[in-house]
Amino acid sequence: MSIRQFKDIPREKLELSRPLRKYSIIGDVLSYLLCPRQYGYFKVRNIVPSAQGQLFFGEVIHNVLDRVHLHYRKTNENQSNSLPTENEIDQYFDIVSKALKSQGIRPLSKSLEQRARKLIKQFVFTFGHTLFPRVKDTEHKLQIQTSLDNGLDYILHGVVDVLFYNYEDGNISNEKVEIWDYKGGRIPDEQYLKNYEFQMLVYSFLFKQKNGFYPEENVLFFIGEMDRESNLGLSAEELLDRCTVKVKIDEQKIKHAMKKFEEAVEKIEDEYNRPFDKQWLAPKVKPPETMCATCDIRWSCENPNGKFELSGL
Ligand code: SF4
Repeated sequence: MSIRQFKDIPREKLELSRPLRKYSIIGDVLSYLLCPRQYGYFKVRNIVPSAQGQLFFGEVIHNVLDRVHLHYRKTNENQSNSLPTENEIDQYFDIVSKALKSQGIRPLSKSLEQRARKLIKQFVFTFGHTLFPRVKDTEHKLQIQTSLDNGLDYILHGVVDVLFYNYEDGNISNEKVEIWDYKGGRIPDEQYLKNYEFQMLVYSFLFKQKNGFYPEENVLFFIGEMDRESNLGLSAEELLDRCTVKVKIDEQKIKHAMKKFEEAVEKIEDEYNRPFDKQWLAPKVKPPETMCATCDIRWSCENPNGKFELSGL
């Protein structure tokens, strides 16, 4: 008997349920919009990049500052309100750096690792006394289950670096909060700054879903600005002004950002439904040249920044 004899037997169509996917603004939507190919290879197909130098710099700063905030909170509970010493910051840095390296996330160079260490200390000793007493929460998780216009459910999530109580007439206001996001680099050009503003608008939306009200202010703090030559020797107040970009809470802009977010999620979902060799293609719009120059899959890429030569051994 041939198997072909069974082909006309009526059978129920097997409906496979689609997994409920999680999307974040930084790790998914912005990564995908910058380069669908890189997103598909490294995030979706889980290919591990060989070197993650850019990632090291940002991660080490975030993780050490998180420990510094915890340190301050603990001493605050003991009513000693003290900043960590230089030695303690070095210890936190060494622990975090070791953990990142064990995951294959290494600095691009020793000097960049040292720069990250110096910037953290500069941040803590310049702003710690004024900023840390205002911390309400760190690594504040935001998450909702929602759906696209076409009915597809998904989880939208994000983590806010720090929530600060707002200052009002020189006093801390316990009702009003500010969302702060630390960036390891310097203030980027307008095109990339728009991406960060997009991130903060999505966080504002998520924050309201969780807390019932919008934050009072959204602040991006660019830690890499602190050692810019033109910023050396400034007072703490002036330096704070040079390192921060505020994103206005504007309901129309938030609506627009959420529409853009959902359109991107829809595009990502469409990618999953394409044949394997038609998924995750290089973008038509140029990603930053430095991104392509350090990309592990540049050799086989039809990218808009042009072909990269194979490196000789
Ligand atoms: S080389 Fe550039 S365009 Fe190609 S995958 Fe890498 S980042 Fe994307």
